[in-house]
Amino acid sequence: MRHHYSSIWHSIPSNLDQKIENIIDNACDLIGMKDAVYVFFRADDVAVPGHNVARLLALFTKYRVPISLAVVPAWLTGPRWEQLNKLGQKTPDLICWHQHGWRHINHENEGKKQEFGPNRSHDEIRRDIINGRDRLEIIMKNSFYPVFTPPWNRCNLTTLNVLKELGFFAVSRIMGRRPPAPNGLVDFQINVDLHTRKGVNPIDDWECLLTDLSRAISSGTCGVMIHHQRMNEAAFSFLELLLTSVVKRKELIPVHFKDMLAIEAGC
Ligand SMILES: [Zn+2]
Repeated sequence: MRHHYSSIWHSIPSNLDQKIENIIDNACDLIGMKDAVYVFFRADDVAVPGHNVARLLALFTKYRVPISLAVVPAWLTGPRWEQLNKLGQKTPDLICWHQHGWRHINHENEGKKQEFGPNRSHDEIRRDIINGRDRLEIIMKNSFYPVFTPPWNRCNLTTLNVLKELGFFAVSRIMGRRPPAPNGLVDFQINVDLHTRKGVNPIDDWECLLTDLSRAISSGTCGVMIHHQRMNEAAFSFLELLLTSVVKRKELIPVHFKDMLAIEAGC
């Protein structure tokens, strides 16, 4: 399958390593040494082993940075899981395998794409979430962690309530998405999108991406969304530069969802 690359990844600006380092240094200086900044990476649409997902996990393993992987249950099979699990076998504590949309399909007739939107009944939503959770638990066993990332970062209140009722610990969407999560369901908000940006001018896009990164770090939590299928050489180069800079600053604490919930629980 051919994938579309966002225009930003058609070229990389000169001195990008310096630019990233400056942004991180400035953002860290702004908030002061006393506060830790949590940095998390969420990679979506995982289930099919391949070159890009292998390269992605090798990169996170190399820098010993945790990553949360959103797995599409209907795409996962036992043999696929065996291959995926091998990729992270050396450092299993760095990976948080969690649930993405059951089949990752759009059920809306108009408006934005949603798998868990207003066109679905309560029972359909509940069934899809339970089917997804059960399939992941059967295939991945204890490696599965009950956090839900809705496809396209969108879902309705029924979905959020069902997640809470079924004992999911958290949901993860792009910052500002509505409705807000109910009390008792943590919302891990993404504030930096690397690979599904819609811009058409790479110069403006780079400006926006670096501004997003700066704002995210200054806010105290930086959540970065990754789509490995949309990564080309430039996207991998940038990610490696970013990881290099992140691990250099002591104020930045790389975490995955499981780590973040442990921090919230105070353990
Ligand atoms: Zn997705």
